[in-house]
Amino acid sequence: SYRKGGYHAVRAGDHFNGGRYVAQRKLGWGQFSTVWLAYDTSSSRYVALKIQKSAAQFAQAALHEIEILSAIAKGDPSNSKCIVRLIDHFKHTGPNGQHLCMVLEFLGDSLLRLIRYNRYKGMELNKVREICKCILLGLDYLHRELGIIHTDLKPENILLFSTIDPSKDPVRSGLTPIIERPEGNPNGGVTMNIIEKKLKRRARRAVAKISERRASMGVEAPKPERNMDGIDVRCKVVDFGNACWADKRFAEEIQTRQYRAPEVILQAGYSFSVDMWSFACTAFELATGDMLFAPKFGQGFSEDEDHLALMMELLGKIPRKVAIGGARSKDLFDRYGDLKRIRRLKYWSLDKLLIDKYKFSDSEAREFADFLCPLLDFAPEKRPTAQQCLQHPWLNISCSTQSATRKEANTEKLNVGMSNLQVKGGQVKKG
Ligand code: ATP
Ligand code: MG
Ligand code: MG
Repeated sequence: SYRKGGYHAVRAGDHFNGGRYVAQRKLGWGQFSTVWLAYDTSSSRYVALKIQKSAAQFAQAALHEIEILSAIAKGDPSNSKCIVRLIDHFKHTGPNGQHLCMVLEFLGDSLLRLIRYNRYKGMELNKVREICKCILLGLDYLHRELGIIHTDLKPENILLFSTIDPSKDPVRSGLTPIIERPEGNPNGGVTMNIIEKKLKRRARRAVAKISERRASMGVEAPKPERNMDGIDVRCKVVDFGNACWADKRFAEEIQTRQYRAPEVILQAGYSFSVDMWSFACTAFELATGDMLFAPKFGQGFSEDEDHLALMMELLGKIPRKVAIGGARSKDLFDRYGDLKRIRRLKYWSLDKLLIDKYKFSDSEAREFADFLCPLLDFAPEKRPTAQQCLQHPWLNISCSTQSATRKEANTEKLNVGMSNLQVKGGQVKKG
């Protein structure tokens, strides 16, 4: 993709926008762009520099994202509404063409990474609550004040505030920014990267040696711990490349598969409430480490059909009126509102799932399910708004620790791998 119309190749030390921004290291990338940590010489702070691919369709997408992000920044002068802030934007010409660039506030890891660090065992409910509050504040601002639908809410698109300890990571914390890429030395700009890599390699070797010795002595190595204990968890919603104004929707198929609302699958029209559905899926995933719905196609049924079946098994039968109300309804449902190609469903319920599989206590399960279920209403207009959801008592329950049984259960789940309950839907259908 590093060719005409594609990504712009960057090296640490490269200058942007007349020298104001200096690239430090790559933070991530997506289908449209690469994102670099950059030092802003005019504010002496770190920023995230998103450099779009140069071809016309990518430039157009960037202009749209800039328009949305500008509205977001304009409506929130105090930068307190839990949405990433656009600081600046400009064009950068390179060998592959002209690239639109967005300068965003620098944030930390995504919630997806956090779930991975936690080894998919679910986070403490108090932290889930804090994160949920942030996301809801952001959604309430987008929906009610701006009329924007995000359309791609998921753990990957929610970033934590950067919590870098300067003493441990001076490069990232801002003590020694790379300002220049020395002339004449082709490797000059990547020196920092090489040093970092060497240090990491050395650390890995040391760890390997220790675990070898432990193994030879029959001592079990402690599991790497990367929990978020003691960190004030705050986060922001990012990636507005697919966002739209509610009165100017353009795409029919929106949202990432697992977070997609039923009305989108049925092509029955959509509004703000699609974000509320994705929000509920995200909250469940934070609390359990598993996706709420992970549909797969199978023999004689499509991914869409499996998805709808999984929804019904957990949430009850889809009301006939909703089932037959979309452009794709005739293809998927018969006139009684039953799926045509998946007949035998095994009904369950969210609170039972939380108790049986995730070992929530009865009260934890009841309270959490009471929070999530209204958001997962098949009828989009019945789902609570972000504003209403912020009033829900679950957000203000404060349990000092999560129940011990849940902690044990999660460790157990980790050891035995996925529970067989995960494939329940498929087994029933195939059998
Ligand atoms: P996608 O294909 O997901 O639409 P994209 O090209 O639009 O990708 P983004 O999703 O905006 O790009 O960003 C790509 C990655 O860069 C993110 O997943 C994240 O890891 C990192 N990133 C983006 N914005 C920031 C930020 N403000 N601070 C820190 N890292 C960021
Ligand atoms: Mg993204
Ligand atoms: Mg994007």
